[in-house]
Amino acid sequence: MPPLVLGAGPAGSIAAIVLARAGAEPVLMDRDAQVGDALCGGFLSWRSADRLRAIGADPAELGGHPVHTLALIAGRHVAVAPLPAAGFGLSRRALDTALRARAMADGARLVIERARAVRPGAIEGDSREWPSEAIFLATGKHDVRGEPRPRTASDPALGLRIRLPAQAGLHSLLRGRIELHLFDGGYAGIVLQEDGSANVCLALRKSRLAAAGGDPRALLDHLAGAHPRFAERMAFAGTDLPIDTVGSVPYGWIARDTESGLFRLGDQAAVIPSLAGEGMAIAMTSGELAAKAWLAGESAPRFQRRFARRAWRPVRTAQLVWATAERPLGARLLAALAGEAPMLARAAMALTRI
Ligand SMILES: Cc1cc2nc3c(=O)[nH]c(=O)nc-3n(C[C@H](O)[C@H](O)[C@H](O)COP(=O)(O)OP(=O)(O)OC[C@H]3O[C@@H](n4cnc5c(N)ncnc54)[C@H](O)[C@@H]3O)c2cc1C
Repeated sequence: MPPLVLGAGPAGSIAAIVLARAGAEPVLMDRDAQVGDALCGGFLSWRSADRLRAIGADPAELGGHPVHTLALIAGRHVAVAPLPAAGFGLSRRALDTALRARAMADGARLVIERARAVRPGAIEGDSREWPSEAIFLATGKHDVRGEPRPRTASDPALGLRIRLPAQAGLHSLLRGRIELHLFDGGYAGIVLQEDGSANVCLALRKSRLAAAGGDPRALLDHLAGAHPRFAERMAFAGTDLPIDTVGSVPYGWIARDTESGLFRLGDQAAVIPSLAGEGMAIAMTSGELAAKAWLAGESAPRFQRRFARRAWRPVRTAQLVWATAERPLGARLLAALAGEAPMLARAAMALTRI
């Protein structure tokens, strides 16, 4: 029975690539035949770029927008710090399409099927049951029946995304930089992507949306009203662009254990707050390490405990940064520190990377 990888996001595709290259002929299963443009993960750090180059999916060759500086914006305070090396703004559609194609070229079999439930030994799909002694669970934000992640936060984070169409004025504002706009209760990350559009991705406490009457557009208008630099970017949005949302992100969750034969990858292994941490790096690292662990005969519970130890420091550091940044005073402090002491910004970047 071939190993089964459930979910063809970055975590699942990389696991499938490693398994396929070792001759294990994995099945890579995803519910979507057409790669969608996932809301989250539009910025790739220099380390993720290195990792992608190493497996033959160079973000520069995929057209990614090179990013050299980080701009931290809290009210009137703007701190600009150079990145240690170029990162990239790249849409998830472009990245996931390339990774899926790479996995298939290397010998993985892609199956389009929605998993309804999963348990050690089998995936229950829409059309049939898929038995396997080795299941790699990589469904990201989406929990599958049988393997839920606990949701304990009283005021969880939500994700929102709006894509600003390519325009010359927007390009000159954002060229070469990733911007993090810090708000009370969350942040917006803004970066240009391969087609010149700008991905505006927000993580905000649910209570912020409730205070805006549950209306994402009213929430964006409110934030623009209170934050002039954010308003300057949102002026390129017009009035009728769609807003995508993802609910209740379990920031800080780490899988410390698992059942025999069930490896958890990516957001199913650890969810790092996206303001300071890099979920895509966790996805790629866990995908690669889990596949190698299985190939080397390591049990799933042992791998999961090992990965949990490795994820602990970056996830906890990113939680601390997020908790500081989501309060107005903390946000101003962080912006001031990043501006005055770029070494501190670099140290935070290093501590939050896996
Ligand atoms: C607001 C926000 C912004 C973020 N921004 C960034 C960023 O800029 N940079 C960064 O590094 N990280 C970012 N992240 C984190 C990053 O998006 C995730 O960590 C990353 O996408 C996890 O990858 P994954 O492969 O585990 O899952 P995903 O990318 O979610 O992929 C899961 C795959 O599983 C498939 N699937 C799901 N359910 C089923 C099912 N039942 N049956 C079959 N297939 C299924 C889906 O179709 C999908 O292809 C952000 C997160 C949030 C919340």
